[in-house]
Amino acid sequence: MEKIDVGILGATGAVGQQFIALLADHPWFRVSWLAASERSAGKRYGDLPWRLASPLSPDIARLEVAPLDALDKSPSLVFSALDASVAGEAETAFAASGRLVVSNARNHRMDPLVPLLIPEVNPDHLSLLDEQRRARGLKGTGGIVTNPNCSAINIAVVLAGLRQFEITRVLITTLQALSGAGYPGVASLDALGNVIPYIGGGEEEKIENETRKLLGTYENGSVRNAAFTVSATTTRVPVADGHTAVMSVELAKKPSIDELSAALAAFTAEPQSRNLPLAPKPPMIVHAAQDRPQPRLDVHHGRGMTVHVGRIRPCPILGYKLVALGHNLVRGAAGAALLNAELIVARQRSGSHADADRKLHAVAASGKVQPQQA
Ligand code: NAP
Repeated sequence: MEKIDVGILGATGAVGQQFIALLADHPWFRVSWLAASERSAGKRYGDLPWRLASPLSPDIARLEVAPLDALDKSPSLVFSALDASVAGEAETAFAASGRLVVSNARNHRMDPLVPLLIPEVNPDHLSLLDEQRRARGLKGTGGIVTNPNCSAINIAVVLAGLRQFEITRVLITTLQALSGAGYPGVASLDALGNVIPYIGGGEEEKIENETRKLLGTYENGSVRNAAFTVSATTTRVPVADGHTAVMSVELAKKPSIDELSAALAAFTAEPQSRNLPLAPKPPMIVHAAQDRPQPRLDVHHGRGMTVHVGRIRPCPILGYKLVALGHNLVRGAAGAALLNAELIVARQRSGSHADADRKLHAVAASGKVQPQQA
């Protein structure tokens, strides 16, 4: 099958580079267009700093970086790894021009008409895309789909495995990697040998709110947030990649520790049954060893898409406690968006998709986009 051309907004940043690495050998998508700030626009991508260990493909290196306002040249499917200061307006403009924007940025996540999607957790929320197109007059392939905050993803996948036991309260403390702050991120003298007990940008609120939308119920064209309460404290630690979440969970049903562990280990979902290219199998690994999961040892498993859980044991206050881990730049960012796009394309191929998504594929395959009315 002919590959679908895709573009990357914010292609020069920490998440943008992960997109390029993950898309290097992707069976369905081909990167054909890159955009970033005026600082990078007009330069060959290969002349800009490349910060990943995997080599940059010569096909990408020779692409010229476009400015954000060159949207008429972009393909009909674009991934966004833009800084939040510009993502809101830019993504709205791309969607209005008929592009499907699959975004990492926080700006549109809590918009009631925008799917906040994890294919293993809430694939039915993708139906919000049709509501968004209808309500906003977006025609054809235009629209915005988002993935959650990099810590919220791991937490939500774990909670999805516990949904059957009726979650009532969740208490979380995260230990988040330096790469979560983008490049260059936290100054080395602030980070080394230290724990910073605060992450700006509403990180704690994002975990508390996004988790409830993710585990919410889609009905009658909107999402009703899950009723459980979440309290989060977020910290920055001197780890390169991998966000850890220490969680206590209260459940209305009272499974044994063995039943809870078995439920998490058995958890699987639509990306696995559809065999999506980036779907980790299994989506979650439950570690028996008391000293796992660890970022250095576990974070690259499943190409960085696997969520890890360990130290499952009784909590004298909320009932159950555990430690979760995931790669913030892959499962928590570029890989999450890519899996969202894979779900959209897979549904379109199997016929369980809206007309507009069918057009995305047809238009993308022809390499042309018809600008649409906002
Ligand atoms: P980053 O390393 O700072 O990269 C930001 C990107 O945005 C760069 O490509 C930059 O281009 C571009 N940009 C900045 N200002 C711009 C402007 N005025 N106009 C056009 N482009 C502009 O940040 P990141 O960590 O990759 O994060 C990217 C997005 O993903 C953010 O919204 C972030 O919140 C979200 N996110 C990050 C993570 C993570 O773990 N890092 C996880 C989940 C979500 P130049 O290089 O040309 O400046």
